[in-house]
Amino acid sequence: MALDDRWFTEINADNGAAFSLQIKEKLHEEQTPYQRISIYETTHFGTLMTIDDLYMVSDRENFLYHEMMSHPALFTHDDPKDVLIIGGGDCGTLREVLRHPGVRRAQQVEIDARVTRLAEKYFPELCASNNDPRAELHFVDGIKWVKDAQPESYDLIVIDSTDPVGPAEGLFTEAFHRDCLRILRPGGIFIQQSESPLYHMKLIASLYGALRRAGYSDVQSLQFPQAIYPSGWWSATMAGKGRDLTKFRETAVRNKVFDTVYYNAEIHRAALAMPEFFRKQVKG
Ligand code: SAM
Repeated sequence: MALDDRWFTEINADNGAAFSLQIKEKLHEEQTPYQRISIYETTHFGTLMTIDDLYMVSDRENFLYHEMMSHPALFTHDDPKDVLIIGGGDCGTLREVLRHPGVRRAQQVEIDARVTRLAEKYFPELCASNNDPRAELHFVDGIKWVKDAQPESYDLIVIDSTDPVGPAEGLFTEAFHRDCLRILRPGGIFIQQSESPLYHMKLIASLYGALRRAGYSDVQSLQFPQAIYPSGWWSATMAGKGRDLTKFRETAVRNKVFDTVYYNAEIHRAALAMPEFFRKQVKG
């Protein structure tokens, strides 16, 4: 909802909060079979995409989210080769995954092709790896993809989805988590964007329960700043198939062959630290 012609505002009614970005103009808007996608030119955050009037991605801050949704899990896994991304239509997570030379295939399964087509036009730098021979872009429901996938066919599954409503609701259920566990190889890792620790702690605690009941051996969350998402404090929750998620390949991080803007070994370690309220609500 725009306050007036010069501001885009996302209202978080459940928390009596709102966050606004000053805009120059609306560049595009369309209703797809799944959602309404809007593109704005902002005064200070570059280009902005919203879906159903919720912030998705902007030029200025997306590095935080895309780096933290990919590198910690990839550097926790011993040797990730086959990666599945559910959602991720803006392609920023795909680009980060493909920075890892050991990854031999990254399949992105996004339900709404229009998100990617608009990202290719308005966020070309996020789509820089879309033509990498290791990349595969599929435009179907991720829930069905996972249900139909072969057992033990992936090393890492990234759920880069919208909030748990509408088409993304089914991505936060125990049944879906069980399906993901089945198609992960031993030592595999699942990671899901898990909303705000400040605003959505109940959801995060229930996600821990669902992942534990689904049979994952370890569940750990990463916390990081996210300027345009509700509260500005975000999380991603990892679940391991027979692997301790508190240990990661620190030397490999220090010797990584690509640049990052936010992620490094210290950030990785710090992101795993649990605030006291968080620890109390998720302890087994
Ligand atoms: N970074 C954003 C965030 O955290 O809100 C999300 C990135 S991306 C834009 C989220 C994508 O998830 C959307 O493009 C949406 O179409 C996709 N999505 C939602 N439900 C899905 C499903 N069941 N299968 C595949 N993609 C889905």
